[in-house]
Amino acid sequence: MTKQQKIIIALLSVVAVVVLAGLGCAAVYLLILSPAPGPAPTTAAVVQQSSSTPLPVPSSTPIPAATTAPTETPPPTPTATQVVVETVLPMPTPTRANCIDDITNFGDSGVITDEQVQQYLRDTIPLSHLDHCRGIEYVARRGAVHTTPIAGNIIPVYREIYVYAIDPEVQGVENLLDTLIHEIGHNVNYNIRRDNFDLDVQWAELHKQSKKTFTDAGLGFVSDYARTDKFEDFAESYLAYIHYPDILEFANVDKYEFMRQEIFKGRQYPR
Ligand SMILES: [Zn+2]
Repeated sequence: MTKQQKIIIALLSVVAVVVLAGLGCAAVYLLILSPAPGPAPTTAAVVQQSSSTPLPVPSSTPIPAATTAPTETPPPTPTATQVVVETVLPMPTPTRANCIDDITNFGDSGVITDEQVQQYLRDTIPLSHLDHCRGIEYVARRGAVHTTPIAGNIIPVYREIYVYAIDPEVQGVENLLDTLIHEIGHNVNYNIRRDNFDLDVQWAELHKQSKKTFTDAGLGFVSDYARTDKFEDFAESYLAYIHYPDILEFANVDKYEFMRQEIFKGRQYPR
């Protein structure tokens, strides 16, 4: 091997070493920069978390959060109140559909049974008149409202009808059924106020007119008690239409016609 050849081989080996070294560096460089997706984000997140958790950040964030929160929250609040309204709406309907099968305790009266009261109502009134009433109950003691004795009453919101014991001397089937029908009249009145308000307006006008026109007792109204207000007038007239039709027709033919056409749909009762 000549000296020249030795020099060429030495140069070539140097070049080879340089090239190999360059490739090796490139490979290492690529390895370092290569995606390595797994660990990179987590470490970044950890770094972010640890860098954001230091004390000064929490103490300073509440203030911007509080000031920005009110301006950002108004949109959600309307939907929140709507939800509240929707949950409140179904609540004030504690009434059952009809109380013909909820008649209790009349056996205690000693003059009629629950079954007889039920049969009497089936034979006498349109059963729709008991709609929205929850129950009819006989109470075997004297009833009173603010010390004024009463024979019966109806609780407007819950639509419970109560018939109370009265003086045994006068307690009979007729008195008891008169009281019951008067209270059912209130139930019918509440139903038309609920479902047919035009009729309620008509009735109020009839009551007003008869108060204006008939100032003498015994005219315009079936009883003195009916003069109390339009509600008692309705209940008393309802009772009279069924049990004392002559008296209602004589006292006020307009009220009689109202009952016949609008409340009883043409049905009339024996005189
Ligand atoms: Zn009444």
